[in-house]
Amino acid sequence: MNYDAMFQSALDGLHADGSYRYFADLERRAGNFPKAFHHGLGRDVTVWCSNDYLGMGQHPEVLTAMHKALDETGAGAGGTRNISGTNHYHVELEKELASLHGKESALLFNSGYLSNWVTLGTIAGRLRNCVVLSDELNHASMIEGIRHSRAEKQIFRHNDVEDLERRLKELPADVPKIIAFESVYSMDGDIAPIEAFCDLADKYGAMTYLDEVHAVGMYGDHGAGVAEQLGLSHRLTVVEGTLGKGYGVVGGYIAASAALCDFVRSFGSGFIFSTALPPMIAAGALASVRYLRGSSAEREGQQRAVAYLRQALDKAGIPHVMNPSHIVPVMVGEAELCRSLSDELLNRFGNYIQPINFPTVPRGTERLRITPTPLHTNEMIDELVGALATLWQERQLRTSKSAAA
Ligand SMILES: *Cc1c(COP(=O)(O)O)cnc(C)c1O
Repeated sequence: MNYDAMFQSALDGLHADGSYRYFADLERRAGNFPKAFHHGLGRDVTVWCSNDYLGMGQHPEVLTAMHKALDETGAGAGGTRNISGTNHYHVELEKELASLHGKESALLFNSGYLSNWVTLGTIAGRLRNCVVLSDELNHASMIEGIRHSRAEKQIFRHNDVEDLERRLKELPADVPKIIAFESVYSMDGDIAPIEAFCDLADKYGAMTYLDEVHAVGMYGDHGAGVAEQLGLSHRLTVVEGTLGKGYGVVGGYIAASAALCDFVRSFGSGFIFSTALPPMIAAGALASVRYLRGSSAEREGQQRAVAYLRQALDKAGIPHVMNPSHIVPVMVGEAELCRSLSDELLNRFGNYIQPINFPTVPRGTERLRITPTPLHTNEMIDELVGALATLWQERQLRTSKSAAA
């Protein structure tokens, strides 16, 4: 058996349809974000596709907290949470997250992916006859968690209240149900009808499970997410978030009732049997969460950059998808073109935007996904849009002006 040939032939398939992933070899420079050194090019580039949405990855308070915890506690946690790995920073962080979301309790995971996978897998897998109603655009981590649970799954149309209700109506009243969805969807930047979904959950006796990964730190007066912004936090059964995007560190969590968190803590294999996050990570995340509870300057700076970018794109006639969030998708619609635009932006103009191709998004909707941060200046934005305008003209791509005509 030639195993490598088997692996290679699968990889050849990715190359053939343009979905093979190339990683940019970057060196982030604390204090210089959103610039990073690109080792492939041997020069600094401006990064436009980072999920360090607020630049908290270099925030002095976060770095100071991490240095201090590193020096005081050492490198790692030293064990699973159950066997000597629970450090006081984990406990403090869980308390902070529970209070941020107005819940009784919170539970930390090593990533947001794991928090979705373990929580949905454990709840849906252990409640008898549980049915999960899952938005069709849910993140892979939720899909895999639901699959792992082996519970019955119903996929409802994206953000579609009627389709969800039609499905809920048909389910027996006495089976446990979970409505699983996101607030801000990461690729289109649209936002779920959270209140309407909560109303349906009340009407049909379902739990609500909301992934706020692309919202925590960024929405609401204290950065608790879109649910906070809309005054709906108390209506959600589970809020799930990451510490790796808006908060700039790493890790994931859920916030929910004490009983639910204790249930996942006690039955979730992917929580129990894995070494806890290093205490310095918990300390850094704690500093970041606390800081963003009290400061809105970063959120306002992000909104400013997003508005300025949208305006500049409009002026240049570069078509982008309007949505209520900080995610600005410039639609390209073809994998090879998307990759080649991204290559030229990088090589000629020093601007890095990773092309987003299938299977991350459906074929025909390939795009450049731009996420401006408070640290992207108007000059940087003008430079990027100038580069895009040059490429659009050279290649005679469809502009928003001609689309309107
Ligand atoms: C990134 C992401 C996750 C996973 O979070 P990590 O902390 O990066 O593992 C979960 N849900 C959504 C919608 C995401 O985009």
